[in-house]
Amino acid sequence: MIILKSRREIDIMRKANLIVANTHAYLAEKIAPGISTYELDRLADEYIREQGAIPSFKGYRGFPASVCISINNEVVHGIPDQSRILNDGDIVSLDIGTLFEGFNGDAARTVAVGEISYEAEKLLTVTETSLLKGLEKAIIGNRLFDISHAIQKYVEANEFSVVRDYVGHGIGRKMHEDPQIPNFGPAGRGPILKEGMTLAIEPMVNTGTHKVKVLDDGWTVITSDGSLSAHFEHSIAITDQGPEILSRP
Ligand code: MG
Repeated sequence: MIILKSRREIDIMRKANLIVANTHAYLAEKIAPGISTYELDRLADEYIREQGAIPSFKGYRGFPASVCISINNEVVHGIPDQSRILNDGDIVSLDIGTLFEGFNGDAARTVAVGEISYEAEKLLTVTETSLLKGLEKAIIGNRLFDISHAIQKYVEANEFSVVRDYVGHGIGRKMHEDPQIPNFGPAGRGPILKEGMTLAIEPMVNTGTHKVKVLDDGWTVITSDGSLSAHFEHSIAITDQGPEILSRP
């Protein structure tokens, strides 16, 4: 069941997501060769709590940290660790969630560490742009899969692939609500988009195959061919003015 939110509830979600956006901006300043993913997680945890929110990923189904940090061929759900040091040329995906006054914020982005390759640069640009292409379809009266299709079409036109095994989601009092939002599929299918829907749309894009696997730690998802992967996510509200990106500073 898709839970529609009132304007008042969306106001709270805007605050929860602003904290997420601010945390992304804060971490972006800290990202450099030599820093560990553990340290980034620690800084984010502290920063989120200082703003009166709770890092919602911590303990979620047993996840041991506050931020999912995934490097290069890691797609999502990487576990921060003191031994994981960022190197010049890496790309690093950060997925951050907050709980604030009973509502969730959720957004992800992939950041360059120092100088990155042309292919990595293109991957970041295509993935972020694919998210925006999807958001353009998040309009009252459209169908959910219009978003999915727009993302897939853009990614594949740029000769990259869309991960199938992980998808976006509704968001609200729970981090994961209905509907599931694949980043692929035929336009014109799925629920009709309505005012008050709040959605976390999050394409995960690989330079090689779309296939992924989970490491023995039970969390870290990697590309099955070792290719690079990027992840961009915004939480949005569907309004009569069009899509409002809640997780934008
Ligand atoms: Mg999400």
